[in-house]
Amino acid sequence: MDKLNILSINAHPHDFTHMAATLGIHRERGDNVIVVSVTAGLNTHNEKLHDELMKPFNERDPEILNQDYKELEKIKKLELRKACSIFGISDVRVLDYPQPFRLAMYNDVIEDISSIILEIRPHILIMQSPYSKGHHGRIGVSADDHIETARATLEAKEAAAIPGDNQKTPHTIPIIIYPGVYFNNDDIDFIVDISDWFEKRVEAEALYISQGHSPEWSRRRLLVSLGNTGWFSNTLYGEAFVREKPELVNSIPFSSLTLNRFEESVSAKYKRMIGKKGLDF
Ligand SMILES: [Zn+2]
Repeated sequence: MDKLNILSINAHPHDFTHMAATLGIHRERGDNVIVVSVTAGLNTHNEKLHDELMKPFNERDPEILNQDYKELEKIKKLELRKACSIFGISDVRVLDYPQPFRLAMYNDVIEDISSIILEIRPHILIMQSPYSKGHHGRIGVSADDHIETARATLEAKEAAAIPGDNQKTPHTIPIIIYPGVYFNNDDIDFIVDISDWFEKRVEAEALYISQGHSPEWSRRRLLVSLGNTGWFSNTLYGEAFVREKPELVNSIPFSSLTLNRFEESVSAKYKRMIGKKGLDF
């Protein structure tokens, strides 16, 4: 298989982290990975300003109230770039749409995303889920940057797939998946074993200082969330995904990770699940 082009389209700079280790695995295999954030995340993840506005009027710090948005934008973009570089990703694009991001107000985004698709010509698109929580949940009914970004991406991939007046070669994306964090466990289609990537995920999570992340908070968050996903699939840590549609296959699909369990003893399995594979305890 030649190198894959993988495009990840997100609402906010932090959203890519939900698939970061999986993208890192693909970078190690030599695949091209491009990360896009539709907004710079200036408002919905502005925890400092949020907390300041919770204070009585005369106790608010004017320095925080009158923060320099240009400066904040630089910080947000730098956090994303640094986080991506941990996973070997250097092609990072922020489209700078305002927040709250609503497709009806900023529909130029369709053209922006569609031209990225035509430039990258991805084999795999990882996009925001267009569903409310759960695969069989309601199609996005809430006002939410993620769902609006999903709608924009759906429009853009349709636009890229049909001939337009720009004479560009149309592109149909064969594989579309959603990060599992937007779904319940029993909706998940597959889980990537990222047990060896946990420390990198913690490191990346802690870079989002503007969102109030501390090293302790980051470790705890990922221990619980990635640990839950890993536990669900009998491994240490995992990143989950949901497919847009059933996969067309040549025969029954399985991975060596799953098949290796055929002859595994219970004690070996327990050791593997706590990261002590091959050790006595
Ligand atoms: Zn987000």
